[in-house]
Amino acid sequence: MKVFKFGGASVKNAKGVKNVINVLEKVGNSNIIIVVSAMGKTTNALEKVVDHYLNESKELGNSIDFIKKYHIEILEDLFENKHNPIFERINSLISDLETTLKRNKSIQYDYVYDQIVCYGELIATTIVSEYLNSEGYKNNWLDARDVIKTDDDYRDASVNWEITQQNIAKNVDKKGLTVTQGFIASDANNFTTTLGREGSDYTAGIFAYCTNANSVSIWKDVPGVLNGDPRVFENVKLLSQISYEEAIELAFYGASVIHPKTLQPLQRKEIPLYVKSFVNPLDDGTSVKKGQRLLPNIPCFIVKKDQILLSLSSLDFSFIVEDNISEIFSLFHKYHLKVDLIQNSAISFSVCLDDKFNHFDQLLSHLKAKFSVVYEKNVSLYTIRHFDEEAIQSLEENKDILLKQSTKETYQIVAKQ
Ligand code: ASP
Repeated sequence: MKVFKFGGASVKNAKGVKNVINVLEKVGNSNIIIVVSAMGKTTNALEKVVDHYLNESKELGNSIDFIKKYHIEILEDLFENKHNPIFERINSLISDLETTLKRNKSIQYDYVYDQIVCYGELIATTIVSEYLNSEGYKNNWLDARDVIKTDDDYRDASVNWEITQQNIAKNVDKKGLTVTQGFIASDANNFTTTLGREGSDYTAGIFAYCTNANSVSIWKDVPGVLNGDPRVFENVKLLSQISYEEAIELAFYGASVIHPKTLQPLQRKEIPLYVKSFVNPLDDGTSVKKGQRLLPNIPCFIVKKDQILLSLSSLDFSFIVEDNISEIFSLFHKYHLKVDLIQNSAISFSVCLDDKFNHFDQLLSHLKAKFSVVYEKNVSLYTIRHFDEEAIQSLEENKDILLKQSTKETYQIVAKQ
């Protein structure tokens, strides 16, 4: 069996949903699990709903209406009959969302977030599944929360593989066509959890691992994995093949084309991953497999924006050694800050941090008590894998560089945005 993942951009409008059938027509439509993300930018729109709700903003109603209108417009383009029960089903999912907010008693942001943003995926899969059914592609709609079980680390939950594996074995019909949500799961108390932004790729990896799938295909609006994000870098080229290790490195440094956690379950069972164009499904795209050399062998450019460069030195000029470093790292861990780059000398220690959860200011108050602290927010971390002189020159041109670091295969700079 195969696992397909359609991201938000691929189902952002009716044309995108119709194109799912085009893909299935060309590459086969049985023994398939289709993992779907929220349509277009719905997750961002739902994040606004959560903010408005927790801040008791007057805009709450409008932000929910915006989401409702967006999906109803897609339905109107997909289904001619305005009495089709799908309209009622989507309206009732929106009502469920409103009821969830009304009944909620928690002020814990991460918990509330997961109970609300999941509606993006629930609505998207309901629409895609119903459209496929109406066009003769009979499928089972599966609530991913019934099978993927996690801990209760809301917004960044970890999978309980044993239970998930058992649930998937029991509930997924390997022969048919299944439509399910990416990104969402549930904890032991059946509260919704999420796997981190862009986590639908990871969901595809989880289903592939648990069903021993033959392959995972991620359908994208680009021809495959490119050697740089075309929105940032010029003259980018398609990588036709890379190894799991290389893909993990690229994802780790911030290449947004594959979610970093996705590769791990696939690598363990050597399940190939294909990244392909949903516009030209028969094109080869990129294959990610064991031990494949990078082809073509060219430098790969990655940028991570909105990072923080933090430098610490001891207040009394004593050395920064193991014990302070371990204390600093436990604080990063406590505040969920991801460390992307480290550079240290005897008396100072610099890191480039990703503050996904907006906890930096809390961290700062802790650190200031013990260290002399200098930091710069809104910097970009650029990475070149397999660099050469020309690649470095083109990257560094016109940049205000704050820090450089290079290893055998990887060249990195932190620069002002
Ligand atoms: N909808 C989620 C997000 O936008 C998950 C995903 O698209 O992979 O982050």
